[in-house]
Amino acid sequence: MTSKTDETPRVQTLLLDADGWGGHRPGQHLDVRLTAEGGYQAQRSYSIASAPDEQLAITVERLSDGEVSPWLVDEAHDGDRFELRGPIGGYFVWEDDGRPVFLVGGGSGVVPLMAMIRSSSGGARMRLLYSSRTLEDVIYRDELAERDGNGVEVVYTLTRAQPPGWTGYSKRIDTALLREIAWPASDRPHVFICGSTRFVDAAADGLVELGYDPESIRTERFGATG
Ligand SMILES: Cc1cc2nc3c(=O)[nH]c(=O)nc-3n(C[C@H](O)[C@H](O)[C@H](O)COP(=O)(O)OP(=O)(O)OC[C@H]3O[C@@H](n4cnc5c(N)ncnc54)[C@H](O)[C@@H]3O)c2cc1C
Repeated sequence: MTSKTDETPRVQTLLLDADGWGGHRPGQHLDVRLTAEGGYQAQRSYSIASAPDEQLAITVERLSDGEVSPWLVDEAHDGDRFELRGPIGGYFVWEDDGRPVFLVGGGSGVVPLMAMIRSSSGGARMRLLYSSRTLEDVIYRDELAERDGNGVEVVYTLTRAQPPGWTGYSKRIDTALLREIAWPASDRPHVFICGSTRFVDAAADGLVELGYDPESIRTERFGATG
Protein backbone atom coordinates (compact mmCIF):
# COMPACT_ATOMS: atom_id res chain seq x y z
CA MET A 1 0.00 0.00 0.00
CA THR A 2 1.40 3.41 -0.86
CA SER A 3 -0.99 5.91 0.76
CA LYS A 4 -4.41 6.53 2.26
CA THR A 5 -6.94 9.35 1.92
CA ASP A 6 -9.89 10.11 4.20
CA GLU A 7 -13.16 10.10 2.28
CA THR A 8 -15.56 10.34 5.24
CA PRO A 9 -15.07 9.77 9.00
CA ARG A 10 -15.52 6.00 8.42
CA VAL A 11 -14.22 5.55 4.89
CA GLN A 12 -10.74 5.66 3.41
CA THR A 13 -9.24 5.17 -0.02
CA LEU A 14 -6.09 3.03 -0.13
CA LEU A 15 -3.71 3.41 -3.05
CA LEU A 16 -2.06 0.11 -3.88
CA ASP A 17 1.12 -0.79 -5.64
CA ALA A 18 0.49 -4.34 -6.83
CA ASP A 19 3.39 -6.32 -8.28
CA GLY A 20 2.45 -7.87 -11.60
CA TRP A 21 -1.06 -6.38 -11.69
CA GLY A 22 -2.43 -7.07 -15.16
CA GLY A 23 -5.01 -4.26 -15.32
CA HIS A 24 -8.73 -4.32 -14.75
CA ARG A 25 -12.09 -3.27 -16.20
CA PRO A 26 -14.40 -0.76 -14.47
CA GLY A 27 -16.71 -2.57 -12.03
CA GLN A 28 -14.38 -5.45 -11.16
CA HIS A 29 -13.21 -6.18 -7.63
CA LEU A 30 -10.23 -7.76 -5.92
CA ASP A 31 -9.74 -9.88 -2.85
CA VAL A 32 -7.56 -8.74 0.05
CA ARG A 33 -6.08 -11.48 2.21
CA LEU A 34 -4.60 -10.68 5.60
CA THR A 35 -2.47 -13.16 7.49
CA ALA A 36 -1.95 -12.79 11.24
CA GLU A 37 1.31 -13.82 12.95
CA GLY A 38 -0.16 -17.15 14.06
CA GLY A 39 -1.13 -17.93 10.46
CA TYR A 40 -4.84 -17.09 10.79
CA GLN A 41 -6.12 -15.66 7.51
CA ALA A 42 -9.09 -13.49 6.63
CA GLN A 43 -10.12 -12.57 3.11
CA ARG A 44 -12.63 -9.97 1.89
CA SER A 45 -13.62 -8.53 -1.48
CA TYR A 46 -13.22 -4.84 -2.35
CA SER A 47 -14.34 -3.12 -5.52
CA ILE A 48 -11.68 -1.35 -7.52
CA ALA A 49 -12.27 2.38 -7.26
CA SER A 50 -9.74 3.55 -9.84
CA ALA A 51 -10.03 3.74 -13.62
CA PRO A 52 -7.83 1.26 -15.51
CA ASP A 53 -5.28 3.97 -16.38
CA GLU A 54 -4.92 5.21 -12.77
CA GLN A 55 -3.03 3.84 -9.77
CA LEU A 56 -4.93 0.90 -8.31
CA ALA A 57 -7.22 2.04 -5.47
CA ILE A 58 -9.83 0.56 -3.17
CA THR A 59 -12.19 2.44 -0.86
CA VAL A 60 -13.05 0.77 2.42
CA GLU A 61 -15.79 1.54 4.92
CA ARG A 62 -14.90 0.68 8.52
CA LEU A 63 -17.49 -1.57 10.14
CA SER A 64 -16.76 -1.11 13.84
CA ASP A 65 -17.47 -4.75 14.67
CA GLY A 66 -15.84 -6.13 11.52
CA GLU A 67 -12.65 -8.13 11.19
CA VAL A 68 -10.86 -6.85 8.08
CA SER A 69 -12.23 -3.35 7.39
CA PRO A 70 -11.12 -1.83 10.78
CA TRP A 71 -7.59 -3.06 10.13
CA LEU A 72 -7.49 -1.60 6.61
CA VAL A 73 -8.92 1.76 7.75
CA ASP A 74 -7.32 2.20 11.19
CA GLU A 75 -4.16 0.09 11.23
CA ALA A 76 -2.72 -0.24 7.72
CA HIS A 77 0.17 2.14 7.08
CA ASP A 78 2.08 3.29 4.01
CA GLY A 79 4.50 0.56 3.01
CA ASP A 80 2.47 -2.29 4.57
CA ARG A 81 2.21 -5.37 2.39
CA PHE A 82 -0.76 -7.68 2.08
CA GLU A 83 -1.97 -10.17 -0.49
CA LEU A 84 -4.26 -9.17 -3.35
CA ARG A 85 -6.01 -11.44 -5.81
CA GLY A 86 -7.71 -10.13 -8.91
CA PRO A 87 -9.11 -8.56 -10.89
CA ILE A 88 -12.29 -10.58 -10.33
CA GLY A 89 -15.66 -10.48 -12.06
CA GLY A 90 -16.88 -10.32 -15.61
CA TYR A 91 -20.55 -9.51 -15.08
CA PHE A 92 -20.60 -6.24 -13.14
CA VAL A 93 -18.44 -4.56 -15.74
CA TRP A 94 -19.15 -1.55 -17.91
CA GLU A 95 -18.12 -1.45 -21.53
CA ASP A 96 -19.02 1.71 -23.40
CA ASP A 97 -21.22 0.85 -26.37
CA GLY A 98 -22.81 4.28 -26.61
CA ARG A 99 -25.93 3.40 -24.61
CA PRO A 100 -26.80 5.59 -21.61
CA VAL A 101 -25.62 4.33 -18.22
CA PHE A 102 -27.74 4.60 -15.08
CA LEU A 103 -25.74 4.03 -11.90
CA VAL A 104 -27.48 3.48 -8.57
CA GLY A 105 -25.32 3.32 -5.45
CA GLY A 106 -26.05 2.99 -1.75
CA GLY A 107 -23.32 3.90 0.75
CA SER A 108 -20.00 2.30 -0.16
CA GLY A 109 -21.81 0.73 -3.13
CA VAL A 110 -20.73 3.85 -5.00
CA VAL A 111 -17.15 2.49 -5.26
CA PRO A 112 -17.37 0.37 -8.44
CA LEU A 113 -19.69 2.99 -9.97
CA MET A 114 -16.97 5.59 -9.38
CA ALA A 115 -14.55 3.41 -11.33
CA MET A 116 -17.03 3.54 -14.23
CA ILE A 117 -17.41 7.32 -13.95
CA ARG A 118 -13.63 7.74 -13.82
CA SER A 119 -13.25 5.47 -16.86
CA SER A 120 -15.71 7.36 -19.00
CA SER A 121 -14.26 9.44 -21.77
CA GLY A 122 -17.37 11.64 -21.61
CA GLY A 123 -18.96 10.00 -24.66
CA ALA A 124 -21.65 8.08 -22.80
CA ARG A 125 -24.61 9.71 -21.10
CA MET A 126 -24.21 8.80 -17.41
CA ARG A 127 -26.43 9.45 -14.45
CA LEU A 128 -25.66 8.50 -10.85
CA LEU A 129 -28.34 8.19 -8.19
CA TYR A 130 -26.46 8.02 -4.89
CA SER A 131 -28.12 7.25 -1.57
CA SER A 132 -26.28 8.16 1.64
CA ARG A 133 -27.35 8.53 5.22
CA THR A 134 -26.04 12.09 5.61
CA LEU A 135 -24.01 14.55 3.55
CA GLU A 136 -20.92 13.73 5.67
CA ASP A 137 -21.28 10.10 4.58
CA VAL A 138 -21.07 10.95 0.88
CA ILE A 139 -17.90 9.29 -0.45
CA TYR A 140 -15.91 11.14 -3.16
CA ARG A 141 -17.94 14.27 -2.34
CA ASP A 142 -15.54 16.83 -3.83
CA GLU A 143 -14.76 14.80 -6.92
CA LEU A 144 -18.44 14.12 -7.59
CA ALA A 145 -19.19 17.83 -7.22
CA GLU A 146 -16.50 18.55 -9.82
CA ARG A 147 -17.67 15.86 -12.20
CA ASP A 148 -21.38 16.67 -11.87
CA GLY A 149 -22.42 18.18 -15.21
CA ASN A 150 -19.13 17.11 -16.85
CA GLY A 151 -19.98 13.72 -18.28
CA VAL A 152 -22.17 12.57 -15.40
CA GLU A 153 -25.27 13.91 -13.70
CA VAL A 154 -25.30 13.25 -9.96
CA VAL A 155 -28.51 13.03 -7.95
CA TYR A 156 -28.33 12.54 -4.19
CA THR A 157 -30.78 11.25 -1.68
CA LEU A 158 -29.91 11.62 2.01
CA THR A 159 -31.98 9.19 4.00
CA ARG A 160 -31.17 10.02 7.62
CA ALA A 161 -30.40 13.73 7.95
CA GLN A 162 -30.21 16.66 5.56
CA PRO A 163 -28.29 19.92 6.00
CA PRO A 164 -30.25 23.18 6.14
CA GLY A 165 -31.36 24.25 2.69
CA TRP A 166 -30.92 20.76 1.21
CA THR A 167 -32.48 20.66 -2.26
CA GLY A 168 -31.78 17.00 -3.11
CA TYR A 169 -33.98 14.06 -2.21
CA SER A 170 -34.43 12.86 1.38
CA LYS A 171 -36.01 9.44 1.09
CA ARG A 172 -35.11 5.85 0.43
CA ILE A 173 -35.04 4.73 -3.17
CA ASP A 174 -38.42 3.49 -4.34
CA THR A 175 -40.36 3.28 -7.61
CA ALA A 176 -41.66 6.85 -7.34
CA LEU A 177 -38.14 8.27 -6.94
CA LEU A 178 -36.80 6.10 -9.75
CA ARG A 179 -39.61 7.27 -12.01
CA GLU A 180 -38.37 10.85 -11.54
CA ILE A 181 -34.67 10.11 -12.02
CA ALA A 182 -34.32 7.17 -14.41
CA TRP A 183 -34.46 7.52 -18.17
CA PRO A 184 -37.48 5.88 -19.77
CA ALA A 185 -36.99 2.15 -20.29
CA SER A 186 -37.33 2.78 -24.05
CA ASP A 187 -33.89 4.53 -23.97
CA ARG A 188 -32.47 1.07 -23.11
CA PRO A 189 -29.89 2.27 -20.54
CA HIS A 190 -27.36 -0.06 -19.01
CA VAL A 191 -28.04 -0.20 -15.28
CA PHE A 192 -25.52 -0.92 -12.51
CA ILE A 193 -26.82 -1.11 -8.94
CA CYS A 194 -24.52 -1.64 -5.99
CA GLY A 195 -25.00 -1.58 -2.22
CA SER A 196 -26.48 -3.68 0.55
CA THR A 197 -28.74 -6.56 -0.42
CA ARG A 198 -31.89 -4.71 0.61
CA PHE A 199 -30.88 -1.56 -1.25
CA VAL A 200 -30.07 -3.46 -4.44
CA ASP A 201 -33.33 -5.41 -4.34
CA ALA A 202 -35.41 -2.24 -3.83
CA ALA A 203 -33.75 -0.40 -6.72
CA ALA A 204 -33.86 -3.37 -9.11
CA ASP A 205 -37.51 -4.15 -8.30
CA GLY A 206 -38.43 -0.50 -8.82
CA LEU A 207 -36.79 -0.36 -12.23
CA VAL A 208 -38.45 -3.61 -13.34
CA GLU A 209 -41.76 -2.07 -12.26
CA LEU A 210 -40.98 0.87 -14.54
CA GLY A 211 -40.59 -1.51 -17.46
CA TYR A 212 -36.81 -2.01 -17.44
CA ASP A 213 -35.67 -5.29 -18.93
CA PRO A 214 -34.21 -7.33 -16.03
CA GLU A 215 -31.42 -8.37 -18.41
CA SER A 216 -30.24 -4.75 -18.62
CA ILE A 217 -29.86 -4.50 -14.81
CA ARG A 218 -26.58 -5.64 -13.29
CA THR A 219 -26.30 -5.83 -9.54
CA GLU A 220 -23.54 -6.20 -6.96
CA ARG A 221 -24.36 -6.89 -3.33
CA PHE A 222 -21.84 -6.02 -0.63
CA GLY A 223 -23.72 -7.94 2.07
CA ALA A 224 -26.27 -7.06 4.70
CA THR A 225 -24.69 -3.74 5.65
CA GLY A 226 -23.47 -0.85 3.53
C1 LIG B 1 -17.95 -8.01 -4.63
C2 LIG B 1 -17.82 -7.24 -3.35
C3 LIG B 1 -17.25 -5.97 -3.37
C4 LIG B 1 -17.14 -5.24 -2.18
N1 LIG B 1 -16.60 -3.99 -2.25
C5 LIG B 1 -16.49 -3.25 -1.12
C6 LIG B 1 -15.97 -1.92 -1.18
O1 LIG B 1 -15.63 -1.41 -2.25
N2 LIG B 1 -15.87 -1.23 -0.01
C7 LIG B 1 -16.27 -1.76 1.19
O2 LIG B 1 -16.14 -1.08 2.23
N3 LIG B 1 -16.78 -3.02 1.27
C8 LIG B 1 -16.90 -3.77 0.15
N4 LIG B 1 -17.39 -5.05 0.22
C9 LIG B 1 -17.69 -5.63 1.55
C10 LIG B 1 -16.40 -6.26 2.11
O3 LIG B 1 -16.07 -7.41 1.36
C11 LIG B 1 -16.53 -6.73 3.57
O4 LIG B 1 -17.67 -7.53 3.68
C12 LIG B 1 -16.63 -5.56 4.54
O5 LIG B 1 -15.47 -4.73 4.48
C13 LIG B 1 -16.78 -6.09 5.98
O6 LIG B 1 -15.69 -6.91 6.29
P1 LIG B 1 -15.16 -7.02 7.80
O7 LIG B 1 -14.17 -8.12 7.83
O8 LIG B 1 -14.75 -5.68 8.32
O9 LIG B 1 -16.46 -7.39 8.60
P2 LIG B 1 -16.91 -8.88 9.00
O10 LIG B 1 -16.04 -9.38 10.08
O11 LIG B 1 -17.02 -9.70 7.77
O12 LIG B 1 -18.33 -8.56 9.56
C14 LIG B 1 -19.32 -7.93 8.71
C15 LIG B 1 -20.60 -7.77 9.50
O13 LIG B 1 -21.16 -9.06 9.75
C16 LIG B 1 -21.32 -9.23 11.11
N5 LIG B 1 -20.96 -10.62 11.42
C17 LIG B 1 -19.74 -11.20 11.25
N6 LIG B 1 -19.78 -12.48 11.62
C18 LIG B 1 -21.05 -12.72 12.04
C19 LIG B 1 -21.73 -13.85 12.54
N7 LIG B 1 -21.10 -15.03 12.70
N8 LIG B 1 -23.04 -13.73 12.85
C20 LIG B 1 -23.67 -12.57 12.68
N9 LIG B 1 -23.10 -11.45 12.22
C21 LIG B 1 -21.79 -11.53 11.90
C22 LIG B 1 -20.40 -8.25 11.80
O14 LIG B 1 -20.92 -7.89 13.06
C23 LIG B 1 -20.37 -7.11 10.84
O15 LIG B 1 -21.41 -6.19 11.09
C24 LIG B 1 -17.57 -5.79 -0.95
C25 LIG B 1 -18.14 -7.07 -0.94
C26 LIG B 1 -18.27 -7.77 -2.11
C27 LIG B 1 -18.90 -9.14 -2.06
